[in-house]
Amino acid sequence: MLKVLLLEDSQNTIVTLEKEIKKTFDNIEVLVARTYKEALKNILKHGEDINLALLKHNILHRSDATLLDVLDVNNIKSIIICHDIENIPTDLVFEQDSVIDCIIQYDELEIKNIVNAASRFLKNIHKNILIVEDSKIQLSVLTKILEKMNLNVTAAHDGLEALEIIKNSDKKFELILTDYNMPNMDGMELTLKIRAKYDKDEVGIIILSSNNEPEISVQFLKMGANDFINKPYNETEVLTRINSNLDLIELFTKTKDMANRDFLTGAYNRRYFFETSNLILKKSRRDKSKIALAMIDIDKFKNINDTYGHDVGDKVICDVVNVLKNHLRASDLMARFGGEEFCVMLDNISHEDTIKTFEKIRKSFEENIIKTQEYTISCTVSIGIYYGMDEELDKMLKISDQGLYYCKENGRNQIKIST
Ligand code: GH3
Ligand code: MG
Ligand code: MG
Ligand code: MG
Repeated sequence: MLKVLLLEDSQNTIVTLEKEIKKTFDNIEVLVARTYKEALKNILKHGEDINLALLKHNILHRSDATLLDVLDVNNIKSIIICHDIENIPTDLVFEQDSVIDCIIQYDELEIKNIVNAASRFLKNIHKNILIVEDSKIQLSVLTKILEKMNLNVTAAHDGLEALEIIKNSDKKFELILTDYNMPNMDGMELTLKIRAKYDKDEVGIIILSSNNEPEISVQFLKMGANDFINKPYNETEVLTRINSNLDLIELFTKTKDMANRDFLTGAYNRRYFFETSNLILKKSRRDKSKIALAMIDIDKFKNINDTYGHDVGDKVICDVVNVLKNHLRASDLMARFGGEEFCVMLDNISHEDTIKTFEKIRKSFEENIIKTQEYTISCTVSIGIYYGMDEELDKMLKISDQGLYYCKENGRNQIKIST
């Protein structure tokens, strides 16, 4: 559960901000404080559990103290909300380590920039960045800037070390920030080597270089770098460019994910199934282990559509996905293959556990009554399963399909496993 402290005395801002923040994150609690004293109480109560503080500038000080010091002690970062460009508290923004940004809010209801800054910071908790820089001083300055943004930083001192880290680390790096001139392997060779393996939408590369010849930046961009920053840089420029690159990569990821999913249920689609099942099969063949491949089809689904209408039918299909998810491991591959037909691939499972798993799924449909606003509907499923390993996925799918056909011919609401 994320926690955000909001110090604000305008009721309008509180209501809209709280609503928007909750829309962006579904696991977030907003601790509202209207005065200095209330904010202090919240900090004492929740301490380091607070992930971020949003503070209205003119109420965060008292004659003798500021909340920023208390936040600093508790390791809480904050975003300051100001109302007037003339009065930006530059001393706070640039001198206090705990202040990560200052947003100007001209109007009570203008909260988009605040929500964006807060959500970027909270999302960064899970993002890994690799800095490649041979100068220790530059490395430490850059690390400090990135850590202030809540990013997880890994450091490499040249291109060779960076490649090693990318290859061996179990972290997935969103962005690589690399210097140009370095011993052993420079930023240009590193960019080429990374791009040979990963596309721009898989990992971003930003070059930092004191070489100001325009041809260099063009060359880097042509090679697949996402951005180029001249040294010496200013902190705000680095922050802004990193943020916009992270936003872009997130957008790529979201778009890709949407293309892999079925619109109605959010389950993976057939295309994704064929892409990913190959990886599972490769690994299982290497490990000389077997897989279970199941075709699951709702029984007499046409009757549900005919009796209750297509909308209710849609609802039932979505519920089926939920039931399946509840019985499968996160690593199992499940996809909606067609209308009311689903395909599941399980690796690392015994013949006995395969039967247990699918029998449980069958039974839970038999016992489960799907409730919509107007109706209670019971539906059953038939499941054809192949267990084993073959060189061809098509052959295995065909055997699952034959199993399914067998179930349908023999009274439905049953499973049939074949090897
Ligand atoms: P069986 O037990 O033999 O599988 O019978 P069934 O009625 O389930 O099978 P059939 O293949 O005859 O009919 C499947 C129906 O599923 C027909 C189609 O209109 C419906 N269908 C396919 N996709 C969707 C969908 O996205 N939403 C809804 N509501 N219905 C769908
Ligand atoms: Mg260098
Ligand atoms: Mg059916
Ligand atoms: Mg069908």
